[in-house]
Parts: sequence; structure tokens; C-alpha cells
Amino acid sequence: MLSLEKLSVRYGKHVALDNVHLRVDKGETVVILGANGAGKSSLLKAVSGLVRPEPGARITLNGRDMVGVSPHQIPDAGIALVPEGRGIFVALTVEENLSLGAYSKRARAGERQQRDFIFDLFPRLAERRRQIAGTMSGGEQQMVAIGRALMSNPEILMLDEPSLGLAPVVVGELFETLGRISTSGVALLLVEQNVKISLDLASRGYLLEVGRLVGEGTADELQQDPAVQHAFLGLNA
Ligand code: ATP
Repeated sequence: MLSLEKLSVRYGKHVALDNVHLRVDKGETVVILGANGAGKSSLLKAVSGLVRPEPGARITLNGRDMVGVSPHQIPDAGIALVPEGRGIFVALTVEENLSLGAYSKRARAGERQQRDFIFDLFPRLAERRRQIAGTMSGGEQQMVAIGRALMSNPEILMLDEPSLGLAPVVVGELFETLGRISTSGVALLLVEQNVKISLDLASRGYLLEVGRLVGEGTADELQQDPAVQHAFLGLNA
């Protein structure tokens, strides 16, 4: 479904990603592991059209070339991003945030159904639909961010460190809900530093180290991989 080949990203002279490949099959959950600065966010940004890869890169979704597609057209193609830091509109209500997520053509027809699905996933959002998003807890704001991304009815949902800054119990609940989203048929591409919980959810993963892929395999294989332990020494070890 989603396939990246020969993906390199540079910021000036700095090489953030060097010749990376990756694939996510239909409905699959895949995690990208890596320490700070490994290039994980850059990879999601390249798929979202937010940074332009170096010439020669191939990014395709169901065979369609995505390089050069502008960021605001990406949701229509079926790709949604929950960025690091969430990117919600803090001055708007929960409901208004969700409505803004439904601007793509793909989303409009099924807007009500999608909203019901999101309120079913996150009953808290239904209870708080008129609350100003900026007054909510970190975990609740993450729900708003995921809800907003889901409003575009994506085929693949990409999440940039969704567990960041959240208490362990909140992270546990969040990953349970990600499991339900996956069960509903949406593919997930997850960037995480929380190795254990993300490998419990994902079926496969990739390990990035300063812009290069240094490991890939099933979740079980990665759990045993000394490079994974090494990359996270001091973080999760
Ligand atoms: P983190 O978890 O810290 O966000 P990451 O794995 O997501 O790390 P990236 O954010 O993709 O990594 O960054 C990869 C490298 O590219 C880092 O060295 C970072 O400093 C650099 N970088 C990222 N964005 C820019 C930018 N806009 N301009 C210059 N350098 C950048």
C-alpha cells in the first residue's frame, strides 16, 4: 500500500535521511523506532508533503506517486498525520477541531459516520465536545489530535510520538485505542521512542539511527535485536 524507496532528506548540508526504504501493507501497524534526531519526524513529513525529498526518492500509495503532492492534498489521498506536539487548534472547541479535520473531499460524504466512530473510540470527546481544546489535559488533547486526523477517513494514520509527555496509564489507554483503530481496518505508521508498548501493538518495525535504517523485522525480531536495546540505552532500557 504505502511504499518508500531511496528516500533521502537534507536540510542544507545536513543529511536527515539517507536512502531509506519502508513499506506498510493494507491495514498493517508498523513502527519506526529511533533515538532523538534519528530522522523519524523527517520521514513522516516527507510522506505528508511537508518536506521535499532528494531527487530519486519514490513514495507511492497504492501505486500512486506522492512526491510533489502538496500537504493539503495529502488527506484526500488517504494519508493523515498526527504531528509531534499534536497541532490542534487550542482556542477552538473539540467539535470545531473535528470539523476542521473533515475538509478533504474524501471526508465530507461520511462526516457524520466518522464523527460517531470517533466519539465511540473516545467517549470523553463526546462528553466534552463544547470544551475549548486548550483547556484539556495532555491525554485528552492527544485524543482531539487523533480524532481530527481520523475525520479525513484515512487509509493510513501516521502518528509522531503520540506517547510523548503522557503519564504511563494514559499511554496504556491511548495504545489500546490505537489497537481498536487498527482493528477497524486503518493502517498505522507510528514513530515512537516507547519501544515496548509500540512493539506490542505493531506487527513489524524499522530502526533508524542518524538517518540510516539499521534494522527491520517483525515486532518479535526487533524486541530481541541488540541494536534496538543499544539505540534506547538510557531511554527505555
Ligand atoms: P526527534 O524525536 O528529536 O524529533 P527525529 O528522529 O524525529 O527526532 P528529525 O526531527 O527527523 O528526527 O530530525 C533529524 C535531523 O534533522 C536532526 O538532526 C535535526 O536536528 C535535523 N532537522 C530536522 N528538521 C530540520 C530543519 N527544519 N532544519 C535543519 N535541520 C533539521
